[in-house]
Amino acid sequence: MHFYSTRNTSYQCTIDEALLQGIAPDGGLFLPAEFPNTYGSLRGAEYTFQQIAENILTPYLSPFFSTDEIASIVEQSFCFDVPVMPLTNNLHIAELFHGPTLAFKDFGGQFMANVLTRILAKRKQKATILVATSGDTGGAVAQGFYEKENVNVIILYPKGKVSELQELQLTTFGKNIRAICTDGTFDDCQRLVKQAFADKELCDKFSLSSANSINIGRLLPQMTYYAYVSHQFFMQSGKVPDVVVPSGNFGNITAALFVKKMGFPIGKLIAATNSNDVVPAYFKTGQYIPAPSKQTLSNAMDVGAPSNMERLFALYNHDLQHLKMDFEGVAITDEETKHTMRNIYAKHHYIADPHTAVAICGAGVVNTDTPKIVMSTAHPAKFKNDVEQILQIELPLPPQLSNLLGKPVFKEELPNNYNSLKAAIC
Ligand SMILES: *Cc1c(COP(=O)(O)O)cnc(C)c1O
Repeated sequence: MHFYSTRNTSYQCTIDEALLQGIAPDGGLFLPAEFPNTYGSLRGAEYTFQQIAENILTPYLSPFFSTDEIASIVEQSFCFDVPVMPLTNNLHIAELFHGPTLAFKDFGGQFMANVLTRILAKRKQKATILVATSGDTGGAVAQGFYEKENVNVIILYPKGKVSELQELQLTTFGKNIRAICTDGTFDDCQRLVKQAFADKELCDKFSLSSANSINIGRLLPQMTYYAYVSHQFFMQSGKVPDVVVPSGNFGNITAALFVKKMGFPIGKLIAATNSNDVVPAYFKTGQYIPAPSKQTLSNAMDVGAPSNMERLFALYNHDLQHLKMDFEGVAITDEETKHTMRNIYAKHHYIADPHTAVAICGAGVVNTDTPKIVMSTAHPAKFKNDVEQILQIELPLPPQLSNLLGKPVFKEELPNNYNSLKAAIC
């Protein structure tokens, strides 16, 4: 299959080029040329997660990768479980946080690392991954690429604005992973990274590549769990569930759309945001007005200009009515998020992290009888301080996090300007 640019449908490139470039030469984002109806041949039988993942990914990865290569990419990338917890008959939670960094971004981080290193080996190239992170992306990318031979990783994060545990997930690697903090916000980091990608000379010299969800390589692996959980749900209940996705850059929910287009039993795609409500406001008013991000309890979703809207606009031709046939949007305040965390804990003894709680609350706002599967994007212990304070409990650290305490830290600090970053890369 080939991939095209959201800004030029006649531009074509192969999977290796799409992943290495990250962004199309015209500044657009890559989209797959088609969404084959894979569900047609799968429906009615039982599959493991890895079997579903292979089936979902094959059309996009072949013929560049052979069947055997795809099988080993899947096996190496997704070696953790996706349990689904029924809270009530109509509300199920798909836990996507059982990977090595306890966030759903591990699907993307692990897959990107395994696919990119293979692509680079085939092309006899090296690359540098440059990524800005507000917390979870950097950890997942570092974990995935650590000690991979042909790749260096540079992670840029805002000093003092990621949690202590999140910082340790970036800074305890060393070797081919450089963690750089800068005075400023996440938006500043993202701006510096964008500037680097616009610097043609720098990009060519260091083969810079992105690992944010502008890269289609992040979205493809995120399709796997929607396929798996919707198929399982349908097999067990005979019902087509809505999915509720806590959303920031809208990469995760775009992956859900791809899976729906492949024929899987998914009803509405419900995007739940925090008070960074650009998209829900657009659904309501028809006005799309990106804004500076606001800081909230669910910090991985503090995005004022969601990058993947460019893909949704392209897929729907900017037709809001058409978009609204598949999507709904709800915005949830921090107060509502806290209330939901307390409520779910009291009623079901379930501990939801703030991001998941935004989606659980959103599921309740869209009040129909259709069953809903909420995507749980992070383990509550990643936000230990907030969760403990809100629920008045003590939350033990899982080994993935407690193992980081006391490890040596490798980090650099740079002034918040492009020349400093450029000098650091060179
Ligand atoms: C990144 C992230 C999100 C948002 O995902 P998008 O694909 O950017 O919409 C939600 N929850 C958590 C915990 C995250 O790390």
